[in-house]
Amino acid sequence: MKIELHAHTSEVSPCANVAAETMVSVYVKAGYQGVVVTDHFNSYVLESFPGSPRDRVTRYLEGFYKAQQAGEKAGLQIILGMESCIAGGKEDFLIYGIGTDFIYQHPTFYRYTQEEAYRACQEYGALLFQAHPCRPGLAPRDPNLLDGMEVYNGNPRHKNNNPRAREWAEAHGLIFSSGSDFHEMEDVGRGGIILPVDIRDSKELAEALKRRTGELIETP
Ligand SMILES: [Zn+2]
Ligand SMILES: [Zn+2]
Repeated sequence: MKIELHAHTSEVSPCANVAAETMVSVYVKAGYQGVVVTDHFNSYVLESFPGSPRDRVTRYLEGFYKAQQAGEKAGLQIILGMESCIAGGKEDFLIYGIGTDFIYQHPTFYRYTQEEAYRACQEYGALLFQAHPCRPGLAPRDPNLLDGMEVYNGNPRHKNNNPRAREWAEAHGLIFSSGSDFHEMEDVGRGGIILPVDIRDSKELAEALKRRTGELIETP
């Protein structure tokens, strides 16, 4: 099963230019069977939404729900994920294996330290990955508080230094992932994973990632 592990929707991520429905149709055309929606769960996103912390989470989930609706019609599995910075850092973290309940339980996840973020993921059974750790200005964070690392980021508008990320992840025994970091049409299908099994939900995705049996997609 071919799955994109890092994609944004313009409904939620201010830096993304493609709406959920269009994202779904281009991923179907690119031959993918699944997409993990990892919209930015950062203070500038959540705090721009009105209402209570709970209302903000509901608004945050709009991109995911729109993608899911379109995915049901188009035969594309849409899985919930998150991309979030941690308190005091510029680094981005990807979270896999969560349901909407996780985000409602942690409506201010973006304020967590890496340790708090990791603990929340562990308690839930989710996985914490660091995204594109070797872009200029970013650095790999504490490997003891990470499950995995995005060793291949396919986004063409950034200097990702993927080989360095891979070396670092390998040295620390982390799970590898790959993602397109889809924001624009030109980003489609540059990353992801081919799993030997079909997964039906976010929990099964986390289990499959833990087994480390997938083949990473690394399309330049
Ligand atoms: Zn972005
Ligand atoms: Zn991203």
